[in-house]
Amino acid sequence: MKRLSIGLRLTLWYLAIFATAQLLFGFGMWFILRENFYRIADEELRSQVEDLTRFLQVQKKNATVAKLQEEVAEAYVIEHSGDFLQIIDSEGNWIFRASALQRNAVVPPAPAAVEHPAYEDWQLHSRPFRFLTARVEVNGHVYTVQTGLPTDQMVRTLSLFRRYLLMFAPLLLLVAASGGFWLSRKALSPVDALTRAARRISGSNLSDRLETLKTGDELQRLSDTLNEMLARIESAFLRVTQFTADASHELRTPISLIRTEAEIVLRRSRGDAEYREALRHILLEAERTTTLVEELLSLARADAGRESLHLHPLDLRSLIAEAGDEWRQLLEVRKLQFKPHLVAGEVQVLADHVAIQRLLAILMDNAVKYTPAPGVIELRLETNDYNAVLSVQDSGIGIAEEDQPKIFERFFRVDKARSREMGGAGIGLSIAQWIVQQHQGSISVQSDLGHGSTFCVRLPLQTGSDYQLGAVGSTSGKMS
Ligand code: ADP
Repeated sequence: MKRLSIGLRLTLWYLAIFATAQLLFGFGMWFILRENFYRIADEELRSQVEDLTRFLQVQKKNATVAKLQEEVAEAYVIEHSGDFLQIIDSEGNWIFRASALQRNAVVPPAPAAVEHPAYEDWQLHSRPFRFLTARVEVNGHVYTVQTGLPTDQMVRTLSLFRRYLLMFAPLLLLVAASGGFWLSRKALSPVDALTRAARRISGSNLSDRLETLKTGDELQRLSDTLNEMLARIESAFLRVTQFTADASHELRTPISLIRTEAEIVLRRSRGDAEYREALRHILLEAERTTTLVEELLSLARADAGRESLHLHPLDLRSLIAEAGDEWRQLLEVRKLQFKPHLVAGEVQVLADHVAIQRLLAILMDNAVKYTPAPGVIELRLETNDYNAVLSVQDSGIGIAEEDQPKIFERFFRVDKARSREMGGAGIGLSIAQWIVQQHQGSISVQSDLGHGSTFCVRLPLQTGSDYQLGAVGSTSGKMS
């Protein structure tokens, strides 16, 4: 079933609460009014009986029934209207009987039967009355006194009150419902505007933003948050688009090189040596392409959050020392001097073994690529209070100051042609930066154009508490 809109639901809730409140209020008021009317009537009846008691008390003790009849009829009834009064003694003698009650043959109970004063509602000739029946003891005689009041005025007022309530309640409800609906529409109209604007935004106009509300309330927070989200989506979208364009561009060059080489060689028949040379070029380009594709895949996996690292306690010193021998041999071939300076003792960090090897390979590889022979490459491992500090320093071509902030960006190369010749696609340092970030570390560069560069990596040392926990973790995150 389709759910009702928030506006309609709010209105219905408002209406239900309002109707309940109105009902309770109306019923409560009617009840209070009725109780007050009865209280006034009952007080009047009680004071009539008290007056009569006082009147009988001042009569002679041994007054006869006839004398009492006369006194009541002449003195009492003249002062107080006795239209609905009747008095009867314990022998059944009428001391007074109002003609209206006589006509209706209303007979009060004998005094002995009246235990407590009783208030009752009667109908006499279709007229409503309130009656009090009480036992009065005066001068050793017991009487039943019954006195009444017509309550038609009161009943009419109450029924009028009820009628007005019933008449105005639906009207009030209608006004409240329209007011509630209007208010909820007004309050929620910015949400409709946001929905319409959000519907318009797609991949082709991701730079559009929702209208910024200046209401200073939850709706403004909502529109601001949505706009911030759109900005994040847009930048991620642009990055992906840029990445696809750059990656295709990078892949096109080696593929066209392979193709051209093959086409040229196949144009005419050649000797074995020429074919071999051509195949060697093709193989070299194919290898570079494979490396490039692997790097691109690695970036894509990291972007998707699927490239995760497994952090284990690791001795950075022994890892570097192991790789050191390999580097020494390679550098000798390139006529470069290798100078490792490793701090004594273990350097424990929480790290992914393979990722750290890769990080080291990227930095050393770059140092070798961009340092012409004869040069020096120094590999340093030190520690301070919190970090292991790993630095790779070369005496190579250096990086201009304005290029230094850009070298960690994807596909950025200071000298495109030269870098390509060396087999670089401008991806290595962005992978290095991602690895460092995944280890909660930092990477920085210091360079002097023409005098070499120093890349410095800081990784947090594993603390005593990490040891106790035997910390092993896994981390994954997007590459910048
Ligand atoms: P590449 O694969 O092209 O080397 P990187 O991301 O590793 O890509 O490096 C980006 C760019 O930074 C390189 O193209 C190069 O211009 C510059 N660079 C990196 N390391 C060095 C270095 N040690 N000396 C001089 N320039 C370097």
